[in-house]
Amino acid sequence: MKEFVSPTLIASYKYCPRLCYLNTVFPHGDKKSTGTVLGIFEHEVFGKHAELTRIDWLKENQIPKDEVFQKEQRIEKVLEYAENIAKEVYPEFIGDIHNTVENLQFRLGCISDMRFQFLSQILEEGMPYEDAVNIILPWRVEQWFKSDKLGIRGRADAIYRMPDSTLLIEDIKSHNKRLDAFIHKEEIKTQLTAYAVLAEEMFNMPTPVARIFYSQDLSTEHFHISDEDKEELIQIKNEAKNVLENGLPPKLSGKESIKCKFCYKRNLCFGFDRRTDDEVLDQTKEPKQEQWKSQWR
Ligand code: SF4
Repeated sequence: MKEFVSPTLIASYKYCPRLCYLNTVFPHGDKKSTGTVLGIFEHEVFGKHAELTRIDWLKENQIPKDEVFQKEQRIEKVLEYAENIAKEVYPEFIGDIHNTVENLQFRLGCISDMRFQFLSQILEEGMPYEDAVNIILPWRVEQWFKSDKLGIRGRADAIYRMPDSTLLIEDIKSHNKRLDAFIHKEEIKTQLTAYAVLAEEMFNMPTPVARIFYSQDLSTEHFHISDEDKEELIQIKNEAKNVLENGLPPKLSGKESIKCKFCYKRNLCFGFDRRTDDEVLDQTKEPKQEQWKSQWR
């Protein structure tokens, strides 16, 4: 049994127990695709951009006078920073990353305007300045959690501190198809519930709401996290922790099998193993993998 599991692994159990098994046995079993790398790049860019905006907005306790100028500077700085990191970390994808920069620049400009308009609006309605900034921009970005009590370890994209002394968890998703996001909705809610439970434990503040920020169209989707959701999470977490104990779960069937079309481990699951010889050799350190491979092929 694993000592710690991640919110992502728990969520994969909710999507499909077999996927959780594959993710446990082959945590790095599939090569990074262009889509995955661009998704990571978007996370980095949006997270950093929100962080810098918050610093600029809180420099003085009032609405920034030169926001139009600062806005452009921030976008330029964030994209330059993220592209330089990507050159080091993902040199083989740098062409794809470079091609997405113009598109990202446009979306960052739009989100900056949306945030600024909302700030002006809620200030006009009488909200104190710091509360207004806290609603619009995250208090923490890329927050790590490790709970010995729950046996969960993971990192949330963003946490907001609301004026009513509650927290709101946000996860950034870069799905570019609505149907893909819809099929993964329950899984994403499970992931968000795990972060909510971890945040409550770490900060001792209620976390009744979580949301997804879709970075492709800048929309958000909110979820209420109920006590039942938290109870279900603990149950799924226990099952995910023990997933190796009962052998390889069967493939999804019936109506559920639609999920296979949107599953990132489909090729591995269906037997088209595209790992290199070196990766296969490395994986054989784990005898369990050989055991299940012989059952599955
Ligand atoms: S392809 Fe289908 S059965 Fe296989 S892991 Fe993915 S969702 Fe589960």
